[in-house]
Amino acid sequence: MKVHTQIPLRNYTTMKIGGPARFMTNVHTKEELVEAINNAQSQNIPFHILGSGSNTIVHDEGYDGLIIRNCIEGSTVLSDSASSTTLEINAGENWDSVVKRTVEMNLRGIEALSAIPGTAGAAPVQNIGAYGQEIADTLVSLTAYDSLDKKWVTLENADCEFSYRSSIFREGEAGRYAINSITLELYKSRPEPPFYAAVQEYFDTNHITQVSVADIRTAVMAIRADKLPNPAEKPNSGSFFKNAIVEEWHFNDLIRDYPSMPHYDMGNKTYKIPTGWLIEQCGLKGSLISGMRVHDKNALVLINESANGYGDLALAREEIKGAVRDTFRIQIEQEPLEI
Ligand SMILES: Cc1cc2nc3c(=O)[nH]c(=O)nc-3n(C[C@H](O)[C@H](O)[C@H](O)COP(=O)(O)OP(=O)(O)OC[C@H]3O[C@@H](n4cnc5c(N)ncnc54)[C@H](O)[C@@H]3O)c2cc1C
Repeated sequence: MKVHTQIPLRNYTTMKIGGPARFMTNVHTKEELVEAINNAQSQNIPFHILGSGSNTIVHDEGYDGLIIRNCIEGSTVLSDSASSTTLEINAGENWDSVVKRTVEMNLRGIEALSAIPGTAGAAPVQNIGAYGQEIADTLVSLTAYDSLDKKWVTLENADCEFSYRSSIFREGEAGRYAINSITLELYKSRPEPPFYAAVQEYFDTNHITQVSVADIRTAVMAIRADKLPNPAEKPNSGSFFKNAIVEEWHFNDLIRDYPSMPHYDMGNKTYKIPTGWLIEQCGLKGSLISGMRVHDKNALVLINESANGYGDLALAREEIKGAVRDTFRIQIEQEPLEI
């Protein structure tokens, strides 16, 4: 196991901001993963698991500890029945390659999660979701090294406490578990309507009536290519803010003032409101704030056009949050995690 020093983390995140990692190592086996964590803990050095850095923002000081990158690839079919196939996927796999393969196998369950950057190991952390699916819908369990109890564990779906863009890996137990594999159960039945509105629109435009999982992947990839900037060309972290969730009394106030406000009834007297719409209403769509561009096709996305580091990003973030707070009395939350 090689340990590298002073590695610029801006090169390992899609936002391309931030200072160096004091130490960094790539692990290729379970044993190396445990060795890396044990080494850091025995020397009282903090450690952090990094995937592809597509949901991570790094501070200008960098990370004064050990960055561990899980590079363990591969997947195994655990079981196969007439109705479903269960697969175990190692954490270092590229997420979209996993989706592509399962779609080629004609399996249903993660096809709408096509083209989300990142690794399979990171997918449960924020319960990745898009176009009506989230990984919580198909994840059976995962294996992880528990750095607190120093043992390998299997966590079932319910143990992960998945919710909208969240799980125990982001909240209560952040930093505790190094996820090493995820197990998904995917289905052999054809996808059935209703489909997510934008996906259905794509099918209508393209006269697709007998929908296959491959059609959904194609539709999602086309919609995303139009709405989301490619991080390789325009550094960004996808949605920079989570969609807003408000209580019924607040929703009633807002819909009175903004009758055309898009919203989604989540049950339990809560409503989801697209934060991109809120930002757009504040007149910020397309604007450049401290070198950060509010994407002109999707105001949820911030592009690092010419930011001079984390400070500029923070200025832009606070200006946007302040505008939404002042206009709608909603406290919006950042989606990417920070180190
Ligand atoms: C253009 C673009 C579009 C995006 N679209 C979507 C979208 O539609 N839906 C969506 O949900 N997200 C989206 N994202 C966000 C991002 O792709 C996902 O959150 C993805 O799962 C992050 O994977 P990563 O490997 O890059 O994680 P990283 O950014 O490297 O890490 C994210 C978090 O996961 C933790 N982590 C990573 N690997 C492990 C592991 N093996 N064990 C334990 N913890 C780990 C890290 O410590 C960190 O806290 C988008 C991002 C971009 C840039």
